[in-house]
Amino acid sequence: MKRLKSPDPYLEKMKKSIVVVDDSCVGCSFCMLICPYDGVNVLGKAEINDNCNACMKCSMYCPNSSIKKINLDSSEG
Ligand code: SF4
Ligand code: SF4
Repeated sequence: MKRLKSPDPYLEKMKKSIVVVDDSCVGCSFCMLICPYDGVNVLGKAEINDNCNACMKCSMYCPNSSIKKINLDSSEG
């Protein structure tokens, strides 16, 4: 699968969020397989790495809804 490197401004904006994986992760690797940015590793449990752009595509494929986005931009609202 082709992996993308992206300085895309839209993706840079999304980096104002971080992505976390909660304890319900069962290590199925669907997220790692679907991520276009090579942003997640799975060794027993998924771990988001620095390539992640918070696009949340992986969350759509997670069977346990284990992947969440946390907004770091306190000016929201
Ligand atoms: S949110 Fe998920 S699919 Fe998107 S870049 Fe991060 S790890 Fe990859
Ligand atoms: S898809 Fe969900 S359950 Fe599967 S490894 Fe990724 S975070 Fe864990």
